[in-house]
Amino acid sequence: MKKIAVVTGSSRGIGAATASLLAAQGYDVCINYHSNETAALELLAQLKSTGANAIAVQADTSQEADVVRLFRTVDEQLGRITALVNNAGILAPQMRVEDMDAARINRILATNVTGYFLCSREAIKRMSPRHGGQGGAIVNVSSAASRLGSPGEYVDYAASKGAVDTLTTGLALELAAECIRVNCVRPGIIYTDIHASGGEPGRVDRVKQNIPMQRGGTAEEVAQAIAWLLSEGASYSTGAVLDVAGGR
Ligand code: NAP
Repeated sequence: MKKIAVVTGSSRGIGAATASLLAAQGYDVCINYHSNETAALELLAQLKSTGANAIAVQADTSQEADVVRLFRTVDEQLGRITALVNNAGILAPQMRVEDMDAARINRILATNVTGYFLCSREAIKRMSPRHGGQGGAIVNVSSAASRLGSPGEYVDYAASKGAVDTLTTGLALELAAECIRVNCVRPGIIYTDIHASGGEPGRVDRVKQNIPMQRGGTAEEVAQAIAWLLSEGASYSTGAVLDVAGGR
């Protein structure tokens, strides 16, 4: 069966590393991005130069109409998907809960939680035998923050990742008899641009001495875990949570 993957938020960071690895493993890949078209098109050109079949689609995964359009575009240009990586995630500048307003909290939840639900829904409609599909695999990118809570920094983000862990459990059980596996990767502190959007670009180097392995992780190390959970090598794993966090 042809392997076709959608990786949300894959113009940069962990998503870009995952799209690259999946393309190298023979998947047809849809790169999804929100606003950084330049980064998405650069990655697209890179993947195509290696002979991969790939497309790049702008869509805000927190918006239902965008998600529907994203998956329809994939149907038309690549075919029926077999793999979804729910990766598009955001955080906001570091602050205590007492200073957060509803707009900020809802923005985090809309992308990090509602977006994962909407993309999962569209994937299920294409993967489930109930809808004429032949199965597939979903990997949700959560965060070690779901265990640690991110006090003083972004408890809203950490709570959104707690929801991702629970989504993984529920969806895995709901789909277990329909040949759809749902697993979760929980990265620790990884060198990507996300820390700059929290207001601290150098955060990884500040906190790395608290990590048992004494270093931050790379997007490629997270991508390896995601690709394995999507693969046939993980054929009896569903509802699993794999920490990729240097021991923390
Ligand atoms: P990043 O470098 O900031 O990249 C974020 C990616 O998501 C970009 O491609 C961005 O697109 C896209 N994106 C953001 N909002 C979107 C939306 N509403 N719709 C579609 N795409 C959207 O982030 P990252 O560090 O790779 O994080 C990826 C995932 O890993 C997130 O779920 C994050 O919570 C999780 N994670 C990261 C770390 C870490 O230390 N880096 C640790 C634990 C978990 P544009 O380029 O268009 O902006």
